[in-house]
Amino acid sequence: MLRLFDPWRSELCTCPLKWVASPYTGCGHRCLYCYASSYIPRHFQPRAKKDFVEKLRKDLEKVPRGALIEMATSSDPYTPPEQELRLTRKAIHLILSKGFRLLITTKSDLVVRDLDLLTRFRGRVAVAVTITTLDENLARRLEPGAPPPSRRVEAVKILSSRGVPVTVRLDPIIPFLNDDPNQIEELVARVAEAGARQVTCSTYKAKPDNLRRMMNAFPDLANKFRELYLERGARIHGYRYLEPSLRFRYLTTVQRIVLRYGMAFETCREGFPQLNTPGFACDGSSYAYEESSST
Ligand code: SF4
Repeated sequence: MLRLFDPWRSELCTCPLKWVASPYTGCGHRCLYCYASSYIPRHFQPRAKKDFVEKLRKDLEKVPRGALIEMATSSDPYTPPEQELRLTRKAIHLILSKGFRLLITTKSDLVVRDLDLLTRFRGRVAVAVTITTLDENLARRLEPGAPPPSRRVEAVKILSSRGVPVTVRLDPIIPFLNDDPNQIEELVARVAEAGARQVTCSTYKAKPDNLRRMMNAFPDLANKFRELYLERGARIHGYRYLEPSLRFRYLTTVQRIVLRYGMAFETCREGFPQLNTPGFACDGSSYAYEESSST
């Protein structure tokens, strides 16, 4: 149930050493741009892993105490079945009570339900909330199964106000959909006001299946996506990337805005480490090392 994080040996990945625990296979948020659907069968039908908690307990014995564990990378730990099954909640308690550090990456405000645990182990836990747009209509089309952005911003605010460090993933930026600098500034301003400490940003990388979903959902953009990704883009580690100059422009724009609002800025698998704020981990895990107030 615990595996060493392996970013497909991508040299563009700057993540620190960490282990990953995923209570669920698949994810019900059904994001059009999801990468995991290209390698996980029936990805949009989330199902609990058999005997997850018991197996996690055993696996934790093999990992150095104090190590960083992320929930999750190929699924959302607060995918809809979690509301009822509470596997993520049990895993949080197990991981933190045994002395590990935890990074929770989610698009769901259900994370607020577990505030009691997150505050009890403050200092060894950080939360990364993905918010790609404040436009509720666009979010409904892009991430049809995920809670609306307003609830995610509210989660950032509640967690931050209780001393749980939160970063925001503006991830991914998609040409023509959420790349408007004014809208990005509005989003950055809202999450800064809500207490986020860092923004991690990436651009959309196309896989055959996610590109198909994007083109079907936004037929007016199909030709533009084809041109940007299939004709002008580059193939890197099995993904189609936008051309470097365009990615650099997007990321520089976001970086300037984020820095203006006093937060750290990091990029995710883009190959522009010079844009990152020194001293912070790209995945938001630096904030799980604020040991002094931990219990
Ligand atoms: S939340 Fe993440 S894992 Fe779930 S569908 Fe969206 S991109 Fe995929």
